[in-house]
Amino acid sequence: MKASKMLISTLKETPNEAMISSHILLLRAGMIRKLVAGVYNYLPLGLRTLRKIENIIREEMDKSGALEILSSAMQPKELWEESGRWSKYGPELIRFKDRHDREFCLGPTHEEIFTDLVRNQIKSKKNLPINIYQIQTKYRDEFRPRFGLMRGREFIMKDAYSFDTSFEGLEESYQNMYKTYCSIFDRLKVNYRIVLADTGAIGGSVSHQFMAMSDVGESDIIYCLCGYAADQEKAESKPFVFESLDDEKEVLEVETINQKTIEEISSFLKVKPCQVAKSLVYRDLAHNELVLVVVRGDKEVNEIKVVNELNIAEHELVLASEQDIYSLSSCEGFVGPVGIKNIKILVDEEVSLMKNFVVGANKKDYHLINVNYGRDFTGKVGQFRKSCEGDICPVCGKPMKMERGIEVGQIFKLGTKYSLPMNCTYQGDDGKVYPMVMGCYGIGVTRTMSAIIEQNHDDNGIIWPLNVAPYHIVIIPVNYQDDAMCSLANAIYNELEDSHVETILDDRNSKAGFKFKDWDLIGIPYQIVVGKRANENIVEFKDRRTLIKEEMSYQDAIKKIKDLVSNIK
Ligand code: ATP
Ligand code: MG
Repeated sequence: MKASKMLISTLKETPNEAMISSHILLLRAGMIRKLVAGVYNYLPLGLRTLRKIENIIREEMDKSGALEILSSAMQPKELWEESGRWSKYGPELIRFKDRHDREFCLGPTHEEIFTDLVRNQIKSKKNLPINIYQIQTKYRDEFRPRFGLMRGREFIMKDAYSFDTSFEGLEESYQNMYKTYCSIFDRLKVNYRIVLADTGAIGGSVSHQFMAMSDVGESDIIYCLCGYAADQEKAESKPFVFESLDDEKEVLEVETINQKTIEEISSFLKVKPCQVAKSLVYRDLAHNELVLVVVRGDKEVNEIKVVNELNIAEHELVLASEQDIYSLSSCEGFVGPVGIKNIKILVDEEVSLMKNFVVGANKKDYHLINVNYGRDFTGKVGQFRKSCEGDICPVCGKPMKMERGIEVGQIFKLGTKYSLPMNCTYQGDDGKVYPMVMGCYGIGVTRTMSAIIEQNHDDNGIIWPLNVAPYHIVIIPVNYQDDAMCSLANAIYNELEDSHVETILDDRNSKAGFKFKDWDLIGIPYQIVVGKRANENIVEFKDRRTLIKEEMSYQDAIKKIKDLVSNIK
């Protein structure tokens, strides 16, 4: 491709809207352009890379035995009512009506559609197991679309759904996808970690996430050197127990005027934050009741675990209003579990093991000291705290570490969550009908494109791995007006054009520095610079990743890039 015929839309300046490297570089390199928040157009260079990522995913999915289909983004409400998710999914689901007043949504995921397809197409056990997938556009009205392709409202996902006759069969299908995902992310050169995950709005029992390691990731990963690793939403940890020989002391009410935060209270009462119990009030919108969650003062509430305990959807748990809190304690704040009425109490197990601790007194400007679980209050005990760096590994008992990751994929064992209510069944050997046992498997294709950039860039721009780069090599004549440079550049270009090497010839009459900047920014993995030694047939071969430049004959340069390309995996 000749650069003069390409749509090269590089930007010098960082656009205001972009904060993280991948978003900045996708815009600056002219790969994408924003249409509205969370919705993007893909320009030619961006689309080439996107297609290559899709194709690697497609090849590995095909190799696993899965079958590709393409379904619609437009989904009828009736199917979502069958699964019970029309009311459960919440405001992320983009809903609309057609001219006949029939209701639809734009698919954020396709469990209902695939279950419906399979129940209509497959009746016999002979056709099972089956795994069907698609690479298709999804819609989620994210509360905060951000970071470019990382969290869009319209994005591309590879989603697959497996259908088996038994849970053992599902286990096999799940392991097959687990391995396939490893091959995909290995081929995409992503540095990733596999973690245990919560099943969220998709549901099911077991789930793993594939996390691309990155400081800009929105997921916190808790992991241990023994191999345990989990998303923070899911992570377990052993409760920390204070060795205290003290007996349970008498509860006392102490005045704590204007001391509201854990820091204020602990410094005022001269105790550590971990000797205070923090009480947070939520409203469970599904059951229309208040819930008090008590965790150690220096810990955070894990809202996902609260949601799971209450068996409600994520959007059905909200922080209680000031009015709600006033109804409990007749003041703002100072809420605590002792003597509180008309509220469900969830107690983190660490709090249940603490001794003589501080809680709010449900009375303005007062706290209680020497409080003990069991004697002074009770509630449902469980893990309701977020695990964090230094917490004790539930498997080996050693302190764990925390890192950030970008969730690029997730796999779920769904079981019969969709097949049962939607009657997706097969006939067994005994003539009876049984629900199929399902799994589902997603990869954020466009998010993966961002993750690759997060892990592969420098101050000058993107450094695409060779197998997903929009082109393999760019030939840059320092001065295209110079006859020797122009003709050698064209000779190299013509030869590479006849091979499998995807080549750009920068035939623009721009200054050399300008051209170098463009290609470094766009991230083409190799450059052949045709400069002043063109009349000796000598060129410079530059590796974008190492920035190492080597002078060589143009024939050697051609051989070198051909070899590199023929070794692409
Ligand atoms: P998140 O927790 O980041 O919102 P999710 O767990 O809701 O994601 P899944 O339902 O597991 O997402 O979707 C499968 C994959 O699709 C995710 O692993 C992620 O890579 C990708 N994905 C999900 N939401 C978005 C989005 N808004 N923009 C881009 N990719 C997304
Ligand atoms: Mg997920």
